[in-house]
Amino acid sequence: FQASLWTPYMKKIAQRIRKTLRAQDEAARLGGDEFVVLLEDIDQQATPARVAHALLERIRAPLAVDGKPLHITSSIGICVYPEDGDSPATLFKNADAAMYLAKQSGRDACRYFTAAMAREAEARFELETELRLALKTGQMRLAYQPKVALADGRVLGLEALVRWQHPREGLLLPGRFLSVAAENGLLQPLTQWVVGEVSRQCARWRADGLAVGRLSCNIDASIFQPGMLEAMLLKTVVEASITPADLELEVLETGMLRETLALGLWERLVARGFELSIDDFGTGESSLARLKELPVSTLKIDRGFVRDLETDQGDRSIVRTVIAMAKILGKRAVAEGVETDAQMRFLIEAGCYAVQGNWFSAPLPPEGIPDLIRDDCCRERRKDLTRESAPA
Ligand code: C2E
Ligand code: MG
Ligand code: MG
Repeated sequence: FQASLWTPYMKKIAQRIRKTLRAQDEAARLGGDEFVVLLEDIDQQATPARVAHALLERIRAPLAVDGKPLHITSSIGICVYPEDGDSPATLFKNADAAMYLAKQSGRDACRYFTAAMAREAEARFELETELRLALKTGQMRLAYQPKVALADGRVLGLEALVRWQHPREGLLLPGRFLSVAAENGLLQPLTQWVVGEVSRQCARWRADGLAVGRLSCNIDASIFQPGMLEAMLLKTVVEASITPADLELEVLETGMLRETLALGLWERLVARGFELSIDDFGTGESSLARLKELPVSTLKIDRGFVRDLETDQGDRSIVRTVIAMAKILGKRAVAEGVETDAQMRFLIEAGCYAVQGNWFSAPLPPEGIPDLIRDDCCRERRKDLTRESAPA
């Protein structure tokens, strides 16, 4: 949404909030889509929880501006003076922490502030401060994991996965810090660093004559303006003296299908030579009609479907179906998180194109890649599987 499109909706929401409150209560807009409500003289009728539930219900009712209906939900955090803070700043901060938990619990909910929330909010704030510093002082690292063709064990490319070499806590995985980065506007600089570093690393490996294939980066499309993402990618590629064809972009289904990202962006990136894949396929909300139109070359089957392939009949059917569908649509299927011989055998038999997972190699620091490629480790490992399967 552009800000101007929001305004009439925000006005209606403000009216709804006002109507829910008593005359002596205050309501104000903090900025953006955040409102604050101040209840004085809490009594049996106007307990914070009652008011919060009345607000949730009012706000949830469909809204129409100029005949365009919209469903909006809210998340509410509650804190009480003086138990939860004795200054406006503390009360705001604690209400915010409670709201954050309401959001996390699936939105359209309210939460009371607790001491545990304060600790959680404090820890997130500290992580944010440290992450800002980490980006400036070069604490971010990349690990690379091969994507391997199932037919012959050839390395098709490497996926770059971000890590944080934390001064006290050691190497942190993205699950620990990506959401903090996203909430605080740090995902964009982080992604720019990742794409830049991957491009420079690609140029170095190419110069060494190492056949690493395409290098792929994970891109959260929702944080970029479409034009900005395109400009950033093109500039980075030129600066590193590589070509768009050296890179693959892994985008989540939801990011790919978002209304605001006109189909034009992906078409233009592909026309420039970038490859596109859909990450964590099967967990999002693709419609088959859109999928057919998207210029993606690869569907990465989410690890969640691969993990229990040995035991879960449903997962087996889903994986077979995605592989078949990929073929029909002229795309490649890559299974993620493959760890066991049994998963490998199933995927080979099902006709999957490629796999990525610890079975071939865990994500490695860049220093580990030359040996992996030169020693043909993945090809050897693939051959071993065939030998083991062959009848004695
Ligand atoms: P993803 O893109 O789906 O990456 C695959 C994840 O599966 C990686 O987790 C990888 O280490 C893990 N994995 C691969 N093979 C196996 C296996 O055999 N067993 C198990 N248990 N796990 C395996 P990781 O590195 O923790 O990354 C998690 C997610 O964080 C990624 O999922 C991706 O969505 C995101 N991410 C990573 N790097 C970046 C980045 O630079 N930018 C952005 N925006 N997101 C990133
Ligand atoms: Mg990925
Ligand atoms: Mg994935």
